[in-house]
Amino acid sequence: MSQVYLDGKFLPPEQARVSVFDRGFIFGDGVYEVIPVFGGRLFRLPHHLARLDASLAAIRLRNPHTVQEWNSIFKYLMAEHGTGDQSIYLQITRGVAPRDHAFPPNPVPTVFAYAQPLKYPLTEQLTQGVTAVTATDIRWQRCDIKAIALLANALLRQQAIEQGAVEAILVRDGMVTEGAASNLFVVSGDRLFTPPKGPYILPGITRDLVVEIARANNFACEEKQVGIEALRTADEVWLTSSTKEILPITRIDGHPVGTGKPGSMHARIFALYKEYKQAFIQGRVE
Ligand code: PLP
Repeated sequence: MSQVYLDGKFLPPEQARVSVFDRGFIFGDGVYEVIPVFGGRLFRLPHHLARLDASLAAIRLRNPHTVQEWNSIFKYLMAEHGTGDQSIYLQITRGVAPRDHAFPPNPVPTVFAYAQPLKYPLTEQLTQGVTAVTATDIRWQRCDIKAIALLANALLRQQAIEQGAVEAILVRDGMVTEGAASNLFVVSGDRLFTPPKGPYILPGITRDLVVEIARANNFACEEKQVGIEALRTADEVWLTSSTKEILPITRIDGHPVGTGKPGSMHARIFALYKEYKQAFIQGRVE
């Protein structure tokens, strides 16, 4: 990574400095986005910018840049990495102010962004599936905000890793919400289910695309609460995110999911997802 963007400037990362009094550092007071770049194009950019606007509105911070400005920042960062698949990380905090929980009267947001090569799941993880564990969803009641304060998510992911799993499936009041950094799909027979949007999940861009693709291809796909029992008896379970795409989970809490192998529904939906991605790279879809 040779250059990052910080507050209007492109700099080598070691020269990009943020004040110790930045509210992002002191309070985790900020929001972020991760946008994948496929074949040199920003995937689902309007969706990511709409979610960024929703996160900013929820924390009562104005968007510091227009769409055109964001685009030129991203283009510059992307050029650093050539045509390979990448992801853009961007973060906006409420800026520097004397430490006080109350908002400063005229905040000047700190804006940071960088691009990096996209790390896909290993082929073996896609062909064999991955292991997950369930965990109590200890997060707050505004998981729909893409907040930089990810301590609970980090604790949950670490808990999963220490149990030899790649993801924690979060459970709140007997209902599955999402993964520590992913959304969740459950297949039962020929039906697809994913928890509905609301304060307890992040409205994942990949989740929405999977719902869109499934429905466009006449698969029954419902946004519906998934109970822990439905998870335990599912034929297939997948997690979705911009970087993991659609990853099959084949063991949960030490028990096999369905046959213990990635299922046929995953193969079909993932093939449709890859077709869509290819069409996007070729400029056939926006
Ligand atoms: N849920 C959480 C908690 C996440 O952190 C993420 C992504 O990081 C997702 C879901 C998936 O969102 P997306 O598909 O937009 O990457």
